[in-house]
Amino acid sequence: MGFWLDIVVAAPAHSGITGPLTYESKSALSPGQLVRVPLGRREVLGVVWGLRSDAGSLSPGQSKSVLDVLEGLPALSANWQALIGFTANYYQRSVGEVALAALPPQLRELDALGLARRLKKAASSPLAPETMAQADRPALSAQQAQALELFEDTRRPALLFGATGSGKTEVYLRAAEELLQERPQAQVLMMVPEINLTPQLETRLRDRFAGLGPGAVVALHSGLTPAQRLKSWLAAHTGQARLILGTRMAVLASLPQLQLIVVDEEHDPSYKQQEGARYSARDLAVYRAHLESRSVADKAAGCRVMLGSATPSLETWQACLKGRYLRLDMPLRIGASGVGEGPEVRVLDMSKQAKGALLAPPLMQAIAERVSRGEQSLVFLNRRGYAPVLACHACGWKSQCPHCSAYRVFHKVDRSLRCHHCGYTEPVPRGCPDCGNVDITPVGRGTEQLEEQVAHLLSDLKRPDGSPVRVLRIDADSARGKGVLQARLAQVHAGHTDVLVGTQMVTKGHDFRHITLVAAVNPDSSLYSSDFRAPERLFALLMQAAGRAGRQAQHSATAQMWVQTFHPQHPLFDALRRHDYAGFAQEELHSRQSAGLPPFSHAALLRAEAASQELAQDFLRAAAQAAAQQVLPGADRVQLYPAVPMPLQRLANVERAQMLIESASRPALQQFMSAWQPVLAQLSSQHAFKRLMRWALDVDPLSI
Ligand SMILES: [Zn+2]
Ligand SMILES: [Zn+2]
Repeated sequence: MGFWLDIVVAAPAHSGITGPLTYESKSALSPGQLVRVPLGRREVLGVVWGLRSDAGSLSPGQSKSVLDVLEGLPALSANWQALIGFTANYYQRSVGEVALAALPPQLRELDALGLARRLKKAASSPLAPETMAQADRPALSAQQAQALELFEDTRRPALLFGATGSGKTEVYLRAAEELLQERPQAQVLMMVPEINLTPQLETRLRDRFAGLGPGAVVALHSGLTPAQRLKSWLAAHTGQARLILGTRMAVLASLPQLQLIVVDEEHDPSYKQQEGARYSARDLAVYRAHLESRSVADKAAGCRVMLGSATPSLETWQACLKGRYLRLDMPLRIGASGVGEGPEVRVLDMSKQAKGALLAPPLMQAIAERVSRGEQSLVFLNRRGYAPVLACHACGWKSQCPHCSAYRVFHKVDRSLRCHHCGYTEPVPRGCPDCGNVDITPVGRGTEQLEEQVAHLLSDLKRPDGSPVRVLRIDADSARGKGVLQARLAQVHAGHTDVLVGTQMVTKGHDFRHITLVAAVNPDSSLYSSDFRAPERLFALLMQAAGRAGRQAQHSATAQMWVQTFHPQHPLFDALRRHDYAGFAQEELHSRQSAGLPPFSHAALLRAEAASQELAQDFLRAAAQAAAQQVLPGADRVQLYPAVPMPLQRLANVERAQMLIESASRPALQQFMSAWQPVLAQLSSQHAFKRLMRWALDVDPLSI
């Protein structure tokens, strides 16, 4: 007589397997244990989700048996199971898919013996029991101390609303330190948008928390090798790791003693997963803290969450206005004297400048002055390559990608045309492929061209020591290869660069000490974008970029941010001049409210991909029709919009279409989608949609 278990496995998408499968086991197992089970002809990793009293609908002989139990590994907690269940349900995916994706991939290949070896190896690095060293802690400013005090007293999610340079990281570290000292088991999860851009942070954390013993600080992100990732995950799961620094994937890690979650730069779009379960790690962090607190009797022992940003997402800002989140204000830069102090913002009206100038003369002049004073400037443009398009003016040919609805970008360095969406690359043709005209020309500007022009315009200028001016470019192209980005950043930090040219990559998080001027070359395309979040993102980008200027107190009075625009009167620039995020947010929330956009409504997208746009849209229309015919629950409060091509309609020869689903009520939207999901699965299996490649729901999409 065996035991019956509900076990979740990573079933292929749309396989029809949405819930757990029933298996038989000779021994009694607990929920959360990892097992190996047969699935079809394969043997796969599974998680025991629950125990059954009988075989359910299975007849004798139909049941399959658990093959192996990964003993020695503590069971995943009930809270973790609840988090996975919520994520699957909310983002409309199967529990098995979400659960298995949250586990390190290497775990799938290990049997009980292999795992036992890993665990033994991990346990052999001992924990030092000594208390943490108190040395090397900067003194807290008054506003930092106050933020910490308020955070200590609240059980609500908190937003640390701190200007760039106000010392947010130190507040995170102090909150973590206090907790880890007070509670010898507690774990802290610290999330950052992209770990590769801030390699200093990991080192800083290891130094700061060295007193916790070796292995107490681990990183968890997709840049790790499978073996490293397994090691970090095991350390987190067994409680050996006390502080976990991770990217969005870390929010689903097993952290049995989690008591504090920090989400740095909470507004960053990279917290939203863009495939599989399209979860928002920021939103899940808030939910997870709530979940971890719900189950403990001792209110003080629950899990708290701190979101941090100088330019919060409007969702988070609205939650503060409504009192759901507690706002902790830190308006002052460290070392600054007045409220809201930041670099002076100069908005340059490009319609008054000579036509075609990439950099207006007054800006060039300002940069030249900095160079001769031995100060650094940062100039950024959000488009890499030399020019976004190559065109023939004789016949109108353009460097269209044959596989995507996008142009291939001209890269002068290696004279190539590259599609930034599918990667398709070809050498630049000698003449126009259509008419043979040899005079094909670049249209528009990218960072490569910007670098070339800046170097050209400053070629006669000398640095204070008489040597020539040095211009350095940092973008995804120039920073390719292991260690290249770090080497380039080190060059800037060491003062070996006068003008740093780059994409928004250089505006994030770097603590450049000698930059006193920051310039945005062409931010206009985001002002009137069809993407409703574009202004919010632009404002965050410009504020963040402004924060790169004058980080050293001696420079803060002379630091400047320049913005070149054809729309100098735009209210966004007005708010930027005043460093007034609150004012910007108020205006933007007002227009979102009148347009019925998030956070005042809740949205999801149904996306479909096929060889033809027609088929993709047909599926969406049939899906809407089926929803109307079957009168699904919640449907009366949900609005379905017409099927349209996605903004990037064709990608790598695949046609993409989407349909917006919107509701003023989140529960109604959730109810509707849960009922719709099986209808969609059934519909896509029909003969008419045999050639449909993929469909998926995206809940709370980044853009609609
Ligand atoms: Zn031509
Ligand atoms: Zn392409």
